[in-house]
Amino acid sequence: MGVNSEQTQCEGMRSVTTGQKTFNGSDHSGEIAISFEGLTKRYGDTVVLDGVSASLGAGKIHGLVGRNGSGKTVLLKCLCGLARYNEGRILLRGEEAVPYKHLPAGIGVIIETPGFSPQYSGLRNLMYLARLQNRVGKEEVRKAIEAVGLDPGSRKHVGKYSLGMRQRLGIAQAFMEGQDILLLDEPMNGLDKQGLADMRQLFLQLKEEGRTIVLASHSSEDIGILCDTVHELEHGRMERIR
Ligand code: ADP
Repeated sequence: MGVNSEQTQCEGMRSVTTGQKTFNGSDHSGEIAISFEGLTKRYGDTVVLDGVSASLGAGKIHGLVGRNGSGKTVLLKCLCGLARYNEGRILLRGEEAVPYKHLPAGIGVIIETPGFSPQYSGLRNLMYLARLQNRVGKEEVRKAIEAVGLDPGSRKHVGKYSLGMRQRLGIAQAFMEGQDILLLDEPMNGLDKQGLADMRQLFLQLKEEGRTIVLASHSSEDIGILCDTVHELEHGRMERIR
C-alpha cells in the first residue's frame, strides 16, 4: 500500500479536548504574559533584532510576521532561551528570563522541524519527553495526542509519519504539560487542508483555555483568522500592525 494522505492517517478532529487543566478560571484581560524591551540580537556584524520591544497580553494569540530572514525565529528562540541576546530584557509572566540561567516553567515551543526518534511511536516519543519533567503522565500525553487528531494507540513509528503528522505531534508536545505560553514557529508547515482547519480549531481552543500563543507565520490567512494582535519584523525593527 502506498503512503496514505495525512488526512487518512490522522484520526480526525471530532471535538477538541486537550485534557489539560484550563486557565480559564481567572480573567486574563489586562495581564501581560510576555514582554521584552530593547531586545538586540547580533550575529557578528549582522543586527537581526535592533532593540525591539513589545508587551503581549495573556490569553491571546499574537501573530509575528515578516519576510524570510526578518528574525521571527531568532526572536522566538530568544524568548524561550534557545538563543542568547546581546541587549535587552525579557519578562515571562513578569519573571525575568535569563538565557542558560533561569527560564520560567510552562513555556511550550515548536521551532523548526520537531526532532523525534524515528524508530518509536508518537506516544513513546512524547512519553520520553514527558518523563524529563515528570509533570504529566500517560493520560495527559494521550489526550494531547488525541487533541491534535492523532491516534495515541497507533504503533506506527514516527519515521513513517507524514510531515503533517510529525507537525501535529510537535504541537502536542508543546502543550501536553499544561504549558500556558506557546511559542509556535510556522506550526502549520506540512499540514494539508484538513490539518490546517484542525490546528486552527485547536489553537482557538488553547486560547479559550487561557493560554497565550505567539504564532510566527507566513500565512496571512492563518494570521487573519487566529490573531488578536500582529507584529511585523523588518530590518531588525518591529512594529505592531494590528
Ligand atoms: P525568519 O524566521 O524570519 O525567516 P530567522 O530568524 O531564521 O528569520 O533569521 C534572521 C536572520 O538571522 C537571518 O539573516 C539568518 O541568516 C540569521 N541567523 C539566524 N540564526 C543564525 C545563526 N545561528 N548564525 C548566524 N546567523 C543566523
